[in-house]
Amino acid sequence: MDSLRNRFKVVIVTGIPGVGKTTVLSLAVKKSSEKGLKVKVVNFGSFMLETAIKEGLVNNRDEIRYLGMRKQLELQQMAARKIVEESEEELGEKDVLVVDTHAIVKTPLGYLPGLPKHVLDELKPDIIAVVEANPNDVYSRQTRDKMRMRSDFGDVRDIEKLMSYAREASFASAVHYASPVVVILNEENKIEEAADKITNILLML
Ligand code: AMP
Ligand code: MG
Repeated sequence: MDSLRNRFKVVIVTGIPGVGKTTVLSLAVKKSSEKGLKVKVVNFGSFMLETAIKEGLVNNRDEIRYLGMRKQLELQQMAARKIVEESEEELGEKDVLVVDTHAIVKTPLGYLPGLPKHVLDELKPDIIAVVEANPNDVYSRQTRDKMRMRSDFGDVRDIEKLMSYAREASFASAVHYASPVVVILNEENKIEEAADKITNILLML
């Protein structure tokens, strides 16, 4: 079993930018903490960003996907290792690590898998949650989220396409460690419902 799962529980939460992943997650974590669960949430991109900034390669998180592909892979691998190392020190058997990340990253070269085998060999997810939303809502959220310097505000059809690639990539990633996949719909003004679904999953693990 050790080779199939980490000691602590691991939940990977994926979803394209603007789907409301981070918001839903923080509410879900608040709710599950109130029910006595110890949950550590990490943003995978923040781990990559920390190294990339230290190395003087980028100024912000959106620049990461424009780096050379081998550099992105190196940052990706380092992030996965660091996340698990940190969690091994902090989390016990009943505790949950939640990783906020992407199943697919749009780069100039092509769509980079966010959860390839070398990442999964570290994370060994107990479950992969895919957060989805109405493409029109995602579009308006991405436009509002200009603060984060997103440079990929395509049209609604681009968002639809990226969302379907992201779902397909999540299922492909799930194969490596037999991680069940759950698709969570984050409807506009129903954040509470989406958060409750994630909370139930955290409590069921
Ligand atoms: P985020 O703030 O979650 O959108 O992440 C910022 C950036 O980190 C993304 O645009 C990607 O370039 C990178 N990133 C996040 N997760 C992954 C991953 N699993 N694999 C590769 N790059 C990632
Ligand atoms: Mg986010």
